[in-house]
Amino acid sequence: MSIVDHFVAGRPYTGSGDRLGPVFDPALGVETKRVRLAAPADVDAAVTAATAAFPGWRDMSWARRQEVLFTFREALNRRRRELAEIITAEHGKVLSDAEGEIARGQEVLEFALGMPHLARGGYSENVSTGVDAYTVRQPLGPVAVISPFNFPAMVPMWFLPMALATGNTVVLKPSEKDPSAANWLAALLEEAGLPDGVFNVLHGDKVAVDGLLDHPGVQAVSFVGSTPIARHVYERATRAGKRVQALGGAKNHMLVLPDADLDMAADAAVNAAFGSAGERCMAISVLAVVDSVADDLIGRIRERIGRIKVGDGRRGCDMGPLVTGEHRDKVTGYIDEAEKDGAEVVVDGRGVRADGPAEGFWLGPTLIDRVGRDSRVYTDEIFGPVLSVVRVRDLAEGIRLINDGAYGNGTAVFTTNGGAARTFQREVQAGMIGINVPIPVPVSFYSFGGWKQSMFGDTKAYGEQGVHFFTREKAVTSRWPATGTREFDLGFPQNA
Ligand code: NAD
Repeated sequence: MSIVDHFVAGRPYTGSGDRLGPVFDPALGVETKRVRLAAPADVDAAVTAATAAFPGWRDMSWARRQEVLFTFREALNRRRRELAEIITAEHGKVLSDAEGEIARGQEVLEFALGMPHLARGGYSENVSTGVDAYTVRQPLGPVAVISPFNFPAMVPMWFLPMALATGNTVVLKPSEKDPSAANWLAALLEEAGLPDGVFNVLHGDKVAVDGLLDHPGVQAVSFVGSTPIARHVYERATRAGKRVQALGGAKNHMLVLPDADLDMAADAAVNAAFGSAGERCMAISVLAVVDSVADDLIGRIRERIGRIKVGDGRRGCDMGPLVTGEHRDKVTGYIDEAEKDGAEVVVDGRGVRADGPAEGFWLGPTLIDRVGRDSRVYTDEIFGPVLSVVRVRDLAEGIRLINDGAYGNGTAVFTTNGGAARTFQREVQAGMIGINVPIPVPVSFYSFGGWKQSMFGDTKAYGEQGVHFFTREKAVTSRWPATGTREFDLGFPQNA
């Protein structure tokens, strides 16, 4: 069985640890590879490579650094399908969806290609007589990126282009569930001319992550994953003096008001709940619908679910399997629990007939009505193809429901009333809001991040905030010619 190695200092690296983790093909339900799980010495090797490469990369001109990233972009466009196939084979999402995540990652790369402009400082002449002031933004050094299983290409690409274009070096610790996309990206960056050690991939679990959080050579940490781990990463890495952005889990609500276009709302709910089998942090997992239109909307959603083809993502299906058998069983457990809690399972994905071998990690789209607000099915992030319906009286109750939740990642309202949409947008407590848009992932020139338990730290991913995260500003005050002063004065310097 093939083994996925680390990638350090420009080449595959076996490391010193002997622990391995399984990698499955979720549609086949079989283990196809194993991945190395780093030992502490491997963490050190990766950070040492990134540290050694930093001065050369930092001191390379903007033009040369951009040239490497432009070449990488061209190569990725040409070979996007190859990467999509790797993602589908380890994550399970359908090929078109895998290509979609690569495209969204490319958007961040394209934004980062404007970095010489984005990271420019300011200059003010003669702030005092004969004195000028200016700012420069400088890279931090080696940074760690720790990513989740659900977007093995896009989430790393929220950070890599931003970190690299600003002159940092990177150690990426991808999810051990689908590790190969990271190595593929590393090899392509090398081919594009990235110097050895500027981008390294370290595979592993808690040992690798905690090693990076504690390592004195790592200057900053960008993390995306579940809320308990995001909190752990934030607390441990800030305690070690690092700059941290830690994006966590979600429970995203879509509020449908009675004046909404119900067909549009039904399409949106189905796409946002069941795309990628619900394994998206911006998936809609709760449909909060005003009671007067609830039965009508549920009917339309149910009809659409009946047309979703579940199966192997390489066979032109709409929805693939879940990432592992263990995760599928956990999600199924929530459906069992909903039934016990007295909710009504309108469409039951258990026992779905999928286009693929029976061993695949299948679970069909599931729609559950009248989910209780104190049920775990409502309060927990399930991260599977399960859409819970909660009926509300009106806009105000819908907003209250959303604001009472622990998470604040994304949320959406469907309405044809501009005033209602505006009230929603102003009052709802979440970082990303959709108005008749179910998955409001900000484009690359805005920034991505949630509120409350969905994000720890105050600087979001990519966009302008990403530029700030990966740079430190230096303010310079200079006097030329350096004629010196005629007399000393111990008073605080004043401009004149
Ligand atoms: P996860 O938290 O299990 O893993 C994320 C990363 O943390 C992985 O690299 C993993 O190896 C590492 N990790 C796991 N357990 C750890 C531990 N005990 N100590 C240290 N490191 C550990 O998340 P996942 O299951 O891979 O991904 C799904 C989660 O990610 C969901 O909660 C989803 O909402 C979230 N997510 C959030 C966003 C966002 O932008 N907010 C985006 C994508 C995914």
